[in-house]
Amino acid sequence: MKLPTKTPFEQLQDLVGRSVTDIDTPALVVDLDAMKRNITRMAEFARKHGVRWRPHAKMHKSAELARLQVAAGAVGVCVQKTAEAEAMAAGGVNDIYISNEVIAPHKLARVAALANLLADRGGQLAIAVDSVEGIRRLSQAMEESGKLRAVVDVFVEIDVGQGRCGVPPGPHALALAHEIRRHTGLHFAGLQAYHGKAQHLRGARERRDAISMVVEDAVYTRKLIEAEGIPVGLITGAGTGSMVCEAASGVFGELQAGSFLFMDADYAANERDAAQPQFEHALFVKTQVISAQAGHAVCDAGHKSHAIDSGLPRVLALDAETELEYFNGGDEHGILRPAGTSTRVPEIGRMLWLIPGHCDPTVNLHESMVGVTGGLLSGTVDRVIRVDARGALS
Ligand code: PLP
Ligand code: MN
Repeated sequence: MKLPTKTPFEQLQDLVGRSVTDIDTPALVVDLDAMKRNITRMAEFARKHGVRWRPHAKMHKSAELARLQVAAGAVGVCVQKTAEAEAMAAGGVNDIYISNEVIAPHKLARVAALANLLADRGGQLAIAVDSVEGIRRLSQAMEESGKLRAVVDVFVEIDVGQGRCGVPPGPHALALAHEIRRHTGLHFAGLQAYHGKAQHLRGARERRDAISMVVEDAVYTRKLIEAEGIPVGLITGAGTGSMVCEAASGVFGELQAGSFLFMDADYAANERDAAQPQFEHALFVKTQVISAQAGHAVCDAGHKSHAIDSGLPRVLALDAETELEYFNGGDEHGILRPAGTSTRVPEIGRMLWLIPGHCDPTVNLHESMVGVTGGLLSGTVDRVIRVDARGALS
């Protein structure tokens, strides 16, 4: 008897050209046709509203998917971590915005090195700040990187309701804009005004109300800064839940939405705004029934296969008679019970498709994603997509 010598990635690679039915379970699968339609809808939406889109790559963590979006018109990517920025740069992405604060000097040395690398390629690095200390440390790292050829675009983050990073709108942001302009390696590029909590407000009206306050804060802060003769080049923000509001504001010049690419169950539970493009689910966990009991079945995907911070996955309906609800069965199991009007428990060996509650942390659990074309029932494996920045937390 011989044990397999191939890595899990190589084993998946062997599936290319084969039927989706051959994908072993559990596996993270991307419906490439649905994903491409989501990209097209996003590109059209941004064009119609005259805004740039810089999709968040913290969601998919794949340089290949970042390049695909850039080819469709995205100006570049957002990332949250220095290590994600490095993974994107290594995969050929040249315009990268770290939409987050970086403070540790050794990380800032990597940020400065990356700024120089991207500048050498004709690209650009940008970063968010919310403190004088952070600005000074960034500037010092740029100076110590020796070259001083690159100039980093620096966005002042204002807290527009999330209560996370960011200074209050108004004079605090003005003071930071002044500070940035004192350093030659830094360029004050504008404001980041991202309201994370607003993304998941269920009602379209609630999200509109929340973002109208965000817009007011951004406009007030911009006016204050411009009154001192400092141009505010760009206001950037927005996620999948609220992007229609920022896009229509005439104030935001760039959308950072990331999850629209895969659409998770949590975002699908939002009341859809009439202006929102019809994004489709494109990310699934393929699983199969390993035990069938009187009133329930058990599948082989638990919360090591999908994140549960935003709720349990939904089960894609197989047919009218087999509607199922997923219950937590622990690390490696999911418990499936008939839902709605159906009473049928799926049989042993039955393949099922789960729609994860939250796409970002789900992707981060996997080394790679299996990309299929031609649908989930009878499609073909087209390619295996690496999660390049998996576990890139630093
Ligand atoms: N911008 C920032 C700063 C974020 O933290 C996030 C996500 O949390 C996004 C944009 C993208 O949001 P989403 O993936 O929900 O569209
Ligand atoms: Mn998310």
